[in-house]
Amino acid sequence: MTEAVAGARDDGERRAELAGSLAAVRERVAAAARSAGRDPAEVGLLAVTKTWPASDVALLTDLGLTAFGENKEQEGAAKAAELAALRPDVAAHWHVVGRLQRNKARSLARWAHAVDSVDSARLVDALERAAAAAFEAGERTTLLEVLVQVSVDGDPDRGGTPVDEVPGLADRVAACAHLRLGGVMAVAPQGVEPREAFATVWEVAQGVRATHAGAVTLSAGMSGDLEAAVEYGSTVVRVGTALLGRR
Ligand SMILES: *Cc1c(COP(=O)(O)O)cnc(C)c1O
Repeated sequence: MTEAVAGARDDGERRAELAGSLAAVRERVAAAARSAGRDPAEVGLLAVTKTWPASDVALLTDLGLTAFGENKEQEGAAKAAELAALRPDVAAHWHVVGRLQRNKARSLARWAHAVDSVDSARLVDALERAAAAAFEAGERTTLLEVLVQVSVDGDPDRGGTPVDEVPGLADRVAACAHLRLGGVMAVAPQGVEPREAFATVWEVAQGVRATHAGAVTLSAGMSGDLEAAVEYGSTVVRVGTALLGRR
């Protein structure tokens, strides 16, 4: 893998590097989909751009990507504003993918399309209040999409809600007027075979879909385990390192 140094490269060189890694990631996703008997078009790509500069995000939009993930509210807010200045004609969708403090909800409601890492009722309530206030202030016109993060091993330190609490949390999101329940998200825990983890997540996702027809998203798979996730029904892989380089 090539080492990429943020901001230290000529734009054309970085563009070629990103084009190459994007093609490789797309090929991995397509191969995994084909071997699982799935249509590669069913699997979306969220580029996780944390720690990388807005100039890289701009180059990724030139390559056709529009969905980006950040794990820190402040970094995401700044990058979203920078991208809007660099590419004013691009309608990018920003996702928060990391653990989130409730006091950041009001700010993220101004710039984020989605929060993929929702794992508590208190966070759901804070996001609903924040999204409502953002609508009121004319800062957003679309519902804030929410994914419920599933904790496969039940370890609360890593984020996510235990499997048996997912349906209740999904119901709570669905009842909020300014949120839209998109589905579920998961990170395969360390020490668990990814296929085993993603099989569990797939069952949880099916349960949520059974009661919420619009909650079709299953966000699973990262640079190291996207093949296993695609095999188990992932509809969005979240890729950082394999696209942008080592952080
Ligand atoms: C950083 C991050 C990713 C991307 O991980 P890579 O291994 O760099 O592809 C995906 N999901 C979440 C929640 C992350 O924090």
